Amino acid sequence: MQFGYILEIVNKLKEKYEFTKFGLGMAGSISKGKVLKSVNLGIKEYDITGKLENATGLKVNVKNDAKCAAIAEYKFGKCKNYKNVLFLTLGTGIGGAYIYQGNLMEGSVFEGFEFGHMIIKENGLLCNCGKKGCFEKYASILTFKKKIIERLNLSYEISGPDLRHEMKLSENKIQDIEEEYVDNLALGLSNLINIFEPDCIVIGGGFARYDYILLEPLKDKIINSNLLFNPRQDIIIEAAELGNDAGVIGASII
Ligand SMILES: [Zn+2]
Repeated sequence: MQFGYILEIVNKLKEKYEFTKFGLGMAGSISKGKVLKSVNLGIKEYDITGKLENATGLKVNVKNDAKCAAIAEYKFGKCKNYKNVLFLTLGTGIGGAYIYQGNLMEGSVFEGFEFGHMIIKENGLLCNCGKKGCFEKYASILTFKKKIIERLNLSYEISGPDLRHEMKLSENKIQDIEEEYVDNLALGLSNLINIFEPDCIVIGGGFARYDYILLEPLKDKIINSNLLFNPRQDIIIEAAELGNDAGVIGASII
């Protein structure tokens, strides 16, 4: 947990601007400002709000980062004219949110909408959450990039632009990885579409950097593979418009 780093940023901003509160989006299950569990950060029962308020003297609002990104995309992004919007963020894991009739849906105790931990394979790969076969083990962007890096013998440290350049040079060597990834993503996403019947779907996180190769095959797979309970040709799936800034923008307005 980079608590000191957060403080450093807040203190730097305090020198430049006058403000009395700030928002924070972070991975994990957040309830009433407390991190109940964050499998990717390895913390639980952590009173981040209390600690930050004490250390800064400011009012702090904390929400799950995917939910923050969904709020920002809903207010300012491509789906702003729709009422029911499904949001997925594909990065290290998979986060999610559902906006129903303009309101972010949340559980009473836990925030819920943990789409990444929906099981899509019985006895599948072990997830950080302790369960097996979670959607995020198959369809996070981390999984996608890892497979390509290994296939092309590249360094795990490679930058995004360099990786995309290498992918272009070796298109024919990684086609099956792209297809398998789209199959898994389509499977999980179609389950969500059947449950929520959203007007519009936004996919954010690292996915938005690879949408040029993944988005059209994903739409095609969902529409033409007998995955939808209510078949439709007009499914609207958009890559997030605000990119990696979505979470920050959302946190500023929670
Ligand atoms: Zn899981």
